[in-house]
Amino acid sequence: MPSPFLNPGATSSADNVALLYVRRDQSIPTILRTYDDENQGYKEGKVVNTRFGSFPHSTLINQPWGSQIVASKVDTGSRGRAPKNAPKRKAQELEEPSGTTTGTGEEKPELKKPEAAASGFLHLMYPTPESWTLALPHRTQIVYTHDSSYILHRMRVRPGSTIIEAGAGSGSFTHASVRAVFNGYPVDEPATKKQRLGKVCSFEFHQPRAERIREEVTQHGLDGLVEVTHRDVYENGFLLGEPKSGRSPKANAIFLDLPAPWLALKHLVRKPADGSESPLDPETTVHLCTFSPCLEQAQKTIRIMRQLSWVNISMVEANNHRIEVKRERIGLDAEGVRGANVHPKSVDEAVNKLRWDEERTKLTRAARIDANGGERDEDDEEADQKPTGKVHIEPFLPRPTDPAYKLGRLIHHSEPDLKQHTSYLVFAILPRDWTEEDEQKCRQQWPSDK
Ligand code: SAM
Repeated sequence: MPSPFLNPGATSSADNVALLYVRRDQSIPTILRTYDDENQGYKEGKVVNTRFGSFPHSTLINQPWGSQIVASKVDTGSRGRAPKNAPKRKAQELEEPSGTTTGTGEEKPELKKPEAAASGFLHLMYPTPESWTLALPHRTQIVYTHDSSYILHRMRVRPGSTIIEAGAGSGSFTHASVRAVFNGYPVDEPATKKQRLGKVCSFEFHQPRAERIREEVTQHGLDGLVEVTHRDVYENGFLLGEPKSGRSPKANAIFLDLPAPWLALKHLVRKPADGSESPLDPETTVHLCTFSPCLEQAQKTIRIMRQLSWVNISMVEANNHRIEVKRERIGLDAEGVRGANVHPKSVDEAVNKLRWDEERTKLTRAARIDANGGERDEDDEEADQKPTGKVHIEPFLPRPTDPAYKLGRLIHHSEPDLKQHTSYLVFAILPRDWTEEDEQKCRQQWPSDK
């Protein structure tokens, strides 16, 4: 089956991964299933329950990607009970939106109070490495898109490259790599599958994580494109199969996201000291990147890189800030002039403005709770304080006739909480070995090149 990461086609299909886009900061990854009664006791396939309603998988399969799917109005009863094999859950867990990812990213069993209103909709999206990175079940810290895109660019990864990555962790970088290596390849045609060059070779020493990533590779249609090896790479290096006598991946790009990358470098040489085959491609320059959270680790890595003949060593920290640009709030100034910028000119004005802002916040929260049919968000504690109604609130919407200078000052600030952990990227290259034999071959090919 074609991988939806590489070739999603026009519509969703059963047994393939899809992302259910609920809102800007929440997508639910799910494998679309049409289980029958015998397997799961469902008449409508698997069901995803969210605060915006219930979505049986039967309504999500064979739909054009990007479709808006409206919550089911039919209650067949399946949304009130757990699958036969689901673990027993505590009463308060029934209150939480189910089918969503938890803090650790694990998909929860689908349970929901049957009386929950089916009121909303979601969008059905095919997965991309970028959206997968934001939605995936976290088993470890992960590499985010601003880093992975820069790393793959600096390592010159392109269709046909072979990448070694260690450790595989939660598979975020694995998915970014697989698209970089196979983008544009007709990977589903059996003829080209045989001739195909390139691979992603993932190493992970934590067995449950290695098994989980193998399962994901299969579920995502990436078998044959990603090879997962359960291995301590510090001790046993990067050959595929047996540690000392296995096949060389012949890698030309290596990404090390390990606690001590310098301990793995001894295996990434042209002629390993233990006489085993080199995991590197003998005919190309090899690009390496290591990802370390602290400068001392980066320095240690660089020291060993130098000793092992890596050159062009450089270090980069990629800092990704989303800059939010918006118009400053506008309202009534002290003289009651609508549309003026509200910059307090006195203490009284400042106090008025604070009251005015508080009142508006309460109103917004109260309105949101009404819209949720009385359900409260976690951040709704303050909503218990009802608006006093004592402060006059002018609607914020600008009138179409308002000139631009009355719409509020244009301001910007950077996003406060960044989805990343700071890290230092160390890049280096290892030129190919150049032997007398290579020189002779070269002279035969270009005789005029003395
Ligand atoms: N790059 C991954 C991603 O984007 O999801 C995250 C990698 S996570 C930060 C580091 C991983 O390295 C962990 O899963 C850990 O088990 C693995 N690891 C640590 N030491 C290792 C070793 N000696 N050999 C192989 N894997 C190792």
